[in-house]
Amino acid sequence: MRIDDGVFAYGGGWLDRAGALRADSERLAALRADERTRVLPLWNDRCLVTAEHVPVRLTGVAATRVLVAAAETVFLGLDGGVAVFGADLTRHSEADALALTGAVSAVDVRKLAGRLDPAEAAAQAYARGLFHWHRQQRWCGSCGAPTTARDGGHVRVCSAPECGRLFFPRIEPAVIVLVQAPDGAARCLLARHAGASEGSYSTLAGFVEVGESLEDAVRREIAEEVGVEVTDLEYQGSQAWPFPAGLMVAFRATALSEEVKVDGVELLEARWFTPDELRARAAAGRLGRIDSIDRHLLGSWLAATGQPA
Ligand SMILES: [Zn+2]
Repeated sequence: MRIDDGVFAYGGGWLDRAGALRADSERLAALRADERTRVLPLWNDRCLVTAEHVPVRLTGVAATRVLVAAAETVFLGLDGGVAVFGADLTRHSEADALALTGAVSAVDVRKLAGRLDPAEAAAQAYARGLFHWHRQQRWCGSCGAPTTARDGGHVRVCSAPECGRLFFPRIEPAVIVLVQAPDGAARCLLARHAGASEGSYSTLAGFVEVGESLEDAVRREIAEEVGVEVTDLEYQGSQAWPFPAGLMVAFRATALSEEVKVDGVELLEARWFTPDELRARAAAGRLGRIDSIDRHLLGSWLAATGQPA
């Protein structure tokens, strides 16, 4: 879902992240107590939603109650001068989290794709990614002592005085690649991953490894997964994918040959698709998740062939 020029689902949005305020504990305390302040509660990585499937936003007494009850809170930023905090209620039971917030259910934000206001989806995904990181970083990786949150929930610090190591939210970049056929042939390479249902194909993707550039990762992943060498890498955009910590970086690349060899483990099958075949898949609603950059890669490639979906 491309929601604006260069902005995909879970990016963009209305929040000024106001990073300069994070270390100002007095100002943050005042904002937490401000009756205009909005709180987005989450439970177990899920949005807490109303009967209309709109995420709950709390203000006033309800907001204060939830901030106090939360295991972790994060300062997400400012919306037109109004502070927005996230509150993680995961330590409570689902029933208690619903009762505390007046929500009727807890729903994965990706299940609301296409229905939720894009800015709201971005804020929910942002909060979700931070809370996931908080739960994974409760202990110091150097000395094993507990860590505590600081700077509005954007840093954790080791509590051992002789250590004091700082930890920052982690992002795990991955490349996602539309490989087109050599010599200008209008075909692109899609693969069926292990565990995917029959007839379910997507573009190739993989995590960037330590010591690799994004371009190195593209060349390695494509060679490993389908045995194809690629050239002419073109950046297509990036998408926040905090499920739990991803950043998807999209490329188009051109294969040097059409021969394909899959490993049979990670990938079960890979084959070349024509624009007609992709348009048939689009018509059948099988051109990837509505909220994914994968779908954008396919859609923009189809448009470039002169035969948009
Ligand atoms: Zn430590």
